[in-house]
Parts: sequence; C-alpha cells; structure tokens
Amino acid sequence: MKLIFIGPPGSGKGTQAKRLAATHGVPHISTGDMLREAIADGTELGRKAGPIVASGGLVPDDVMVGIIKDRLAKTDARKGFILDGYPRTLVQAERLDSFVGNGSGGLRVLQLLVPDEVIVKRIALRRSCPQCGAIYHLETAPPRDDEVCDRDGAELIARPDDNEQAVRTRLEAFHRQTLPVATFYKSKSVLRQVDGVGPVDVVFERIEKSLS
Ligand code: AMP
Repeated sequence: MKLIFIGPPGSGKGTQAKRLAATHGVPHISTGDMLREAIADGTELGRKAGPIVASGGLVPDDVMVGIIKDRLAKTDARKGFILDGYPRTLVQAERLDSFVGNGSGGLRVLQLLVPDEVIVKRIALRRSCPQCGAIYHLETAPPRDDEVCDRDGAELIARPDDNEQAVRTRLEAFHRQTLPVATFYKSKSVLRQVDGVGPVDVVFERIEKSLS
C-alpha cells in the first residue's frame, strides 16, 4: 500500500493514517511529526522550521522534498507507506512523482472531506501526548483521566499551532496550496474522497471501504 492522505488541519488524517498504517503493516510517515521532533531536538532543521510551523505557514518545498526523499529511501518504506501531511503543494507532488511514480500499482490518494467550521471546533478541543504522539479530543475521544495520556501517563498538551490565528493560516494554506494537489491527483484518476465527519470508527470504515 502506497497511500497519500490529504485533508485540512484537524480533519483526523493523523489519527486515521496511524490506524491504517498499523492495520496494513506499513510505516506511517508524518512530515508534521518529523518537523515537531526536529524542533524538540533543536536540530538545524528544527531551528529553521520552528517559527514557520508555529505560525501555521508552510516550510519551503526544497526542505520538505529533501526530508521525504530521504525517508522514503529507508528500507521499511519499500513495501509501502502512508504519507500524512505530504505533499502539501503542487511542487511537492510533482517531485514525489519523480521518485515514486504513480502508475498502476503505484500511489493512491485519499482525501478526507471536513468543512472548515467543523475543523475550528475540533482543533480547539484537540490534545496530544508529547511523548508518544497519541491524539485525543476532549469531547469525542477523551483520555480516561483528565488530560493525561492513557498509554504512558504523560500530561497532554495542545499543539502550539492549534491556536486560533495559526489555525486560520493553516486553513488558508490548505485551501490555496493543498487543494490543487487533490485536483492534480484527480486528473490522474488516483483520488478517492471520503466524508471525514463522524466518529473515528465510522470514518475508518469508510476509508477501508473506499480502498478495497
Ligand atoms: P501537520 O502535523 O501535518 O498538521 O503539520 C504541522 C505543520 O508542519 C504544518 O502546519 C506546516 O507548518 C509543517 N508541515 C508539515 N508538512 C509539511 C509539508 N509537506 N510542507 C510544508 N510544511 C509542512
């Protein structure tokens, strides 16, 4: 399975992509997670990307293409992968094509459809575990104990770029730069669209069905 997940911020693509990767035994490759890790580790990439990610803008294409090219060259990605958060621009999509190819048996693309007003509400109540990356929603998928991770007991945090201003910037970037990527894959007949509104399990079933 070589699959790209496209969806606005807060559409549940991280949650669904992780689950799908576990079910199909392929790596879940999230460029957002990779950048957050670099930022936490204080690497050169992290120092460069930090302010951009915090503001909700997009990290430059040449940086992202390099990161994903290196990651896909690792042996675990040979049998397949689920890309979460890449490509976000047409340039990134075109470059990906040049090193993966998307002919028959190649890439498939899944777009999660969630309206902006649902996104804004979801993101305000989103929390994640800084240790293991588990994602919660205080209303629809709450942790067992108040704001503590079920898996490792770490205190949950709201992502710094989940504030109102950054969310607005991220939504704008999605509409302006990432939606054309969905159109690009539609023209290649590899795009499936799935309604992303509803409980996590129901959305997951829709995804599995659309891919079968
Ligand atoms: P995500 O976790 O996918 O929502 O990504 C968090 C942030 O990381 C985004 O708002 C961007 O600032 C940055 N980012 C992640 N992936 C990319 C990408 N493919 N291109 C540019 N910026 C990215």
